[in-house]
Amino acid sequence: MEPTPADRALREAADRAIAYLHSVRDRPVTASPEALRRLDDLRHPLPQSGLDASAVISRLDEIGSPATTATAGGRYFGLVIGGALPATVAASWLAAAWDQNACFRATSPIAATLEDVALTWLIDLFGLPSGTAGGFVTGASMANVTALAAARHAILARQGWDVEAKGLYGAPELRVIVSDEVHVTVLKALSLLGLGRDRVIRVPTDTQGRMRIDALPALDDHTILCIQAGNVNTGAFDPAAEICLRAKKAGAWVHVDGAFGLWAIANPAMTAISAGFAEADSWATDGHKWLNVPYDSGIVFVRNPADLREAMAATAVYHAQGEAGGREPAHYTPESSRRARGVEIWAALLNLGRDGISDLIDRTCRHARAFAQALQDEGYDILNDVVLNQVLVSFGSPEETRAVIARIQADGICWCGGTVWQGRTAMRISVCNWSTTDADVQMSIAAMLSAGRQVVSTSRPGT
Ligand SMILES: *Cc1c(COP(=O)(O)O)cnc(C)c1O
Repeated sequence: MEPTPADRALREAADRAIAYLHSVRDRPVTASPEALRRLDDLRHPLPQSGLDASAVISRLDEIGSPATTATAGGRYFGLVIGGALPATVAASWLAAAWDQNACFRATSPIAATLEDVALTWLIDLFGLPSGTAGGFVTGASMANVTALAAARHAILARQGWDVEAKGLYGAPELRVIVSDEVHVTVLKALSLLGLGRDRVIRVPTDTQGRMRIDALPALDDHTILCIQAGNVNTGAFDPAAEICLRAKKAGAWVHVDGAFGLWAIANPAMTAISAGFAEADSWATDGHKWLNVPYDSGIVFVRNPADLREAMAATAVYHAQGEAGGREPAHYTPESSRRARGVEIWAALLNLGRDGISDLIDRTCRHARAFAQALQDEGYDILNDVVLNQVLVSFGSPEETRAVIARIQADGICWCGGTVWQGRTAMRISVCNWSTTDADVQMSIAAMLSAGRQVVSTSRPGT
């Protein structure tokens, strides 16, 4: 059969994507000034008549691919950013061809089924209570919003207040407790939910950014307590076991922001830091970070399914439909129409298996320790206990550290960003990408040490 123009465009996109993935490993991590200049070629008026699909794709690749940041390669260590496993990229291509609306079981039986399966696997993997409900959202930000909406619902419902119907005007007051190290997206979630980002009670943290139990205020049954698995700087975990025990006695709701750290729970060797998190009431995590699925992908879990459903089901019509035919995806997320995110999560889990997931966590944490060791051997200060995949390093004064970061970024061998940890300027290394090899780590260490030597010899000419 002769390929149609549509077939040709799809093949061409696949060929170009494959070529991109081969080249992205070797090119500089940041886009070149030349590539950035070419972006201006895209800024023309909307043409009167359109281009055919192949021409659109070649234009996208020729101008677009060079102007990407190489986060799909193995030497991007900025923020907390994963790559995308080949099985998940391929699954996402197929799912794009399906063009399924994951809103209802009827709009996509396959999307709804893959969500069922992925949820069952994840609940088992994370050791969450069986019967926990979940939803597939854009990321941990939205997972935090969704979980905290369920928390708000549950606590107010217990006091006889229907927050979905009446809003917060005249509602009994809720108390929200976070730590000094709360992630900004949790505060944003609280602000979106009318709970107020500045109205929270903040608990001080220790040297690693863990919530200090001795400073935890008394809890009660109208309190939401937000803890975290995986501090974005240090990778540290709040002491969940003790916190959850106290919360349970008091009837408080515990929410876990585990955007990347929750995945450590999937590693049987890491039970020391991950103990107790399964005792919480709700959890937020990302698929697009440590699991390495394409953007955008987050997952929310809520212990009591009714709390999530009551907070998310849009109207009484939805309530009336019930779920006799199985879980209805739209009853568990803020969105109605949305893409079938469960596809890539299912693909990643099936592709890796339990051992593969555990190995991904082990490997990336081992890379993080290798960075820390090499930088420490060179005499630089490692500011955190490297318990996970995050490393904080100081190259000297704040100016020196900033200059080393700038040089590393300009060299383009690898990419790391800056942060300030408990008053000290630091470079943050986050290893999350499935494709990072030992050779990538060695190359990146060499680039960091070389940048360090150059900066320190410029700023301290006598030494
Ligand atoms: C990344 C991150 C978030 C936000 O996740 P998004 O996927 O960017 O929405 C929240 N909390 C922590 C700890 C994170 O690392």
